[in-house]
Amino acid sequence: MKSIWEERSFSGETALAVVGAGITGLFTALNYSRKHPDHRVVVLESGPHPVGASVKNAGFACFGSPSELLHDLDALGETTALQRVEERWHGLLELRQELGDEAIGFEPVGGYEIFRADNVLYTRVAERFDSLNAALRGILGKDIFVWADDRIAAMGLGSGHMTWNALEGAVDSGKLMRALLRKVQESGVEVRFNAKVGSWTEGQHAVALRIHDGSALHAKHAVFATNGFSRALAPECGILPARGQVLLTNAIPGLSLKGTFHLDEGYFYFRHYQGRVLIGGGRHLDKAGETTEVDGTTPQIQQALEEVLRTLVLPGKDFSIAQRWSGVMGFREQGGPPLVERLSPAACWPRAWAASA
Ligand SMILES: Cc1cc2nc3c(=O)[nH]c(=O)nc-3n(C[C@H](O)[C@H](O)[C@H](O)COP(=O)(O)OP(=O)(O)OC[C@H]3O[C@@H](n4cnc5c(N)ncnc54)[C@H](O)[C@@H]3O)c2cc1C
Repeated sequence: MKSIWEERSFSGETALAVVGAGITGLFTALNYSRKHPDHRVVVLESGPHPVGASVKNAGFACFGSPSELLHDLDALGETTALQRVEERWHGLLELRQELGDEAIGFEPVGGYEIFRADNVLYTRVAERFDSLNAALRGILGKDIFVWADDRIAAMGLGSGHMTWNALEGAVDSGKLMRALLRKVQESGVEVRFNAKVGSWTEGQHAVALRIHDGSALHAKHAVFATNGFSRALAPECGILPARGQVLLTNAIPGLSLKGTFHLDEGYFYFRHYQGRVLIGGGRHLDKAGETTEVDGTTPQIQQALEEVLRTLVLPGKDFSIAQRWSGVMGFREQGGPPLVERLSPAACWPRAWAASA
């Protein structure tokens, strides 16, 4: 039997259930509750804290390196590719404004792309450098990319070529997610951890979400912000997991590297972190093997990351590895931008599946 207090404050009708407490799910809950302050909103998260890509990533606050952007311009066409840059740029500005630079550990160190001396990508970027800057001028306000070959030696990097832009930076993803979670909870949203949704059914007036502990939550509307884990709940959405592997070195005495760096169209990336180097990527070396939700690392990719460290990032320097981890992104089978889709024909709020690329 429930008291009136329990009923009013803890088990009233749930207007919106959000599955997944990553950055997408938490912002969805926050924005909805701002629009509807009287509605009960519950976020269900399978981990003891957010455990998806939002807390496994590399903390790059970026909108794309030159070679990656040129690839997108060719593959997607100018309109779509530029729209994507604009969304990333505005998203970054909104994130900083919403939570504050201090709270997310934002460091305005800029974004680099480095090319090995004999890399064909360098020629491609050099040929189209000015036209790329011109295409982005309308979004970013000025010619943003400059050549920065003169900083290579000072940063202790192996030889090659390098571009830089002043608008990108690094964040502390752990601090960011804590700040966001706090804001969401302060707004009155209830966040339940260790609440993995195993299945769901749609009734006439509510969606029933069955949780692994045997309980169920009935909500008027549901949003699934489950990213790389989406295929378990909605295989028809065609979202595939894409695991990314990362490693972090121990502190390196005299490290002069500072900034966020991309290599090989963004397939490798590295940055400084408190006197150490964090490096990730290499998924393109085993795409089939990395199409998995399973947490773990593989010798093939970890060795490739260490090889980039040895030959390009820390040439001639001794280093040891402190930590290795992986995280899961969600990609659409057909490629394309993040999927935000209404699945239910019902009016008002849809059930939606969100996956981010
Ligand atoms: C290794 C790696 C490096 C990256 N580096 C960067 C970077 O430097 N910069 C950048 O901008 N982006 C980066 N990304 C991408 C970025 O992290 C993601 O795009 C972003 O975090 C996605 O947020 P999300 O909320 O959509 O998903 P997630 O953070 O993955 O959140 C999904 C949540 O849903 C939960 N969940 C799943 N299934 C269920 C269920 N059945 N029941 C309950 N809960 C469930 C999960 O536990 C998880 O917490 C990186 C990603 C990875 C993996």
